[in-house]
Formats: sequence, structure tokens, C-alpha cells
Amino acid sequence: MAVISTPILAAAAAVALGSTLVATLPWDAGPISGPGSLTVTVADAPGDIDTPVVVTGPDGFRVETERTTVLRNLRPGDYTVSATTVPNPFGELVPQLADQTVRIGPNLHRGVAVTYRFDSPPLVPVGDPASYAIQSGTPDNPVRWNPCRVVTWGPLLPLPVAEEQRLTSAFAKASIASGIPFRRALPGETPMVNVTLTFEPGTTVSGEGTMFFSADSADTLPRAFRGEISGVIGTETSGELREALYLHEIGHVLGITHVEDSSQVMHSVVTEEDAFGFAAGDTNGLRLVGAEAGCLDRPIGAKDARAVESDGMLTLTWFQPASVPPVVDTRVEMVTRSPGGSATTVVPWPAGFVTPAAGPSRAAMPIPQDVCDPNTTISLVATNANGSTTTPIRVTGC
Ligand SMILES: [Zn+2]
Repeated sequence: MAVISTPILAAAAAVALGSTLVATLPWDAGPISGPGSLTVTVADAPGDIDTPVVVTGPDGFRVETERTTVLRNLRPGDYTVSATTVPNPFGELVPQLADQTVRIGPNLHRGVAVTYRFDSPPLVPVGDPASYAIQSGTPDNPVRWNPCRVVTWGPLLPLPVAEEQRLTSAFAKASIASGIPFRRALPGETPMVNVTLTFEPGTTVSGEGTMFFSADSADTLPRAFRGEISGVIGTETSGELREALYLHEIGHVLGITHVEDSSQVMHSVVTEEDAFGFAAGDTNGLRLVGAEAGCLDRPIGAKDARAVESDGMLTLTWFQPASVPPVVDTRVEMVTRSPGGSATTVVPWPAGFVTPAAGPSRAAMPIPQDVCDPNTTISLVATNANGSTTTPIRVTGC
């Protein structure tokens, strides 16, 4: 077995890890048995901040990565996933757990998640810490963004430089308070949170902030996927009042709403006199919808998902990386397109077949009638507590 000591530096290199350094499951795998694997899920950080993670194991095994990575064909033993504190423009990103050690054995497929929290001075520790309100869902189960994925923001039309800087400052402060990694959308990139500002003569500001969310199914939590911020900015207002408006609308986009306490940014009216940024209640509300509430990651998609048609039987093989939280259900979906639309059916598993949460799998079943139709595609759908991930299956032999 090769000792892998190549630093994995970027997203592109992490893809290369999957395709070149890690052997794929042989096609005719026979009985499912073999080496273990470890899936390291690395949460995204704000902007372009790198969060290197080092995995060490038996016989000098060492891999460095900054992205979610599946390490396969591992020799049995204890593997340690180490993360370090990363200084950044917002303060410090501190890993929730510096070292996590897992035992990998034959056929043992484990998953480790590396998540970070912000360690920064409180922004404005004033006001009643209990003055916050959740916008959708409940305080125990608020509707929120996945704090382990970057959320991009940007104006639909170019803004004056000073306003762009105020918005940048507001999103940075929202990042610190919530732990949600915001990043300014790059040129040509569609932002997840759109900002539209208009300017009018006057001494007041007004705006709206909206969070859009949906659920995979009735069994899964809704999650935010898009936001809209609009503002009408009086040209005779101060930079502080404008930034307070942006913080307020970002609060709505993140999932908190109005309170009675006028010292909070989430009070429905913010004036020049009380425009001083997130207060204690705002910050506590943002924690509830932020990183401290945990990742909302769906499963990592299956690897090497393929099927062979032969003698009326369809044999599927795939490798399911370990996920945090674990995969609880896997199904095969068949989609057939016709001029009238498309129809989706679930292909039943063979009697008694149990899909594992992680690792290699193989199942043989009678060929569904349409699987060789060029208008038909089949996919593996893996589901965990946070939703589903669909992976196309390559079919040969038809
Ligand atoms: Zn409001």
C-alpha cells in the first residue's frame, strides 16, 4: 500500500484525489469485503479562508486537505483528523474538536465532520440578551441556512464604492455573530442573497429582508437556500444608519425577526440615535440560527455508481461515503421522459436486501422494463436526517 503524503491544496486537487490516488472498487467485486474508508467532511469558511485538515494513520499515513475528502482502501488502524485554529479577518476560526480519532478496520467506513466556530470579541454587548425572536420554525428547530456551506451575496447592479463597503462590513459582522460563512459573489456568479438598493432624497432608510426555504420532503427540515434584501436609502442618512438597516435585513435573511426592545437591531424601527449594530439579543438570536446549531449537510453522493444489464438482471454496484449524520435510506429512482413530461418510479430492492449507511454495495434485481430506453435514467438517492442526494447510475450492457 502506498503512503500518501501529497498535500491536497484546493478543490481541484481534492477531485484529483478521488480519481487518481484512490483505487476504485473493482467491477466484479464478488462478495463485499475489503479495506475500510474514512470520509472527512470539512465545513466551508468565510471568503477564501483556507482551513487545512491533516489526517494521520498507521505506517506514516498522512493526507492534508482543505475540502471534503473520501479516503479509501485504508489499512486498518487508528486515524486522527486534526484541525487547527485559523486566524482570519473576522477574528479566529476555532475547530469544534481539534483532534478526532476513529478506528478503521476491514469493511469499516467512518465519517468525521470538521466544523468551526468564530472566536471574536462581542460586537455590541448592549441590550437585553433575551430580546430575540425566531422568524420561522421554533427556537428549538428554527428554519436556517446550512452553516457549513458558504452563502454568497451581491448587488444585482453595481453600487457606489462606499455602499459596497458598508454592505461588506455588515455581512462580515453577520458572519461573526452567526458563524454563517458569507462571501461576496464573484463577477458573473449568481449570488444566493441578492441586494437591491435605490437612493432617494431624504433622512430615513427602509428595507425588506426575506429568507426563502424549502424541505426535501415532509420528513426533513426545511432549509434556507436564497435571500433577498431591498433597501431605499435616504441620501441624507449616516453610514451608521445604513449599516444598521443592512444588519436588520440580513437578520431577516438569516431567520430572526422583530422584537419590542428598541436597543436591538431587530427592533422594527432603527433611528440615527440607536444605529450601533447587533446588540446582545440580536447576537443570541443569530447564534440559534447559526453555526452553533450544527451542520445541515445532506449525504455525500455515491461514488462509482454503475449498473450492468445481463440476462434480464440488473446488477448495481456503488460506494457510499460515510456521512455526518449517517445515511438512513438508499433507493433507486428511474425517471422516464416522454413528450408529456417525465415519470419517476422507485425500483424495488431484492427481497431481504439491506442498504448500508456507508461502504461498497452490490445488488442484483430483475431488470425494470424501461431501464435500457434512451429516455430513461436511473439514479441512487441517499437520504440522511438533513435531506437527500441524487447520483446518476451509469448503465452498460443494454
Ligand atoms: Zn424588519
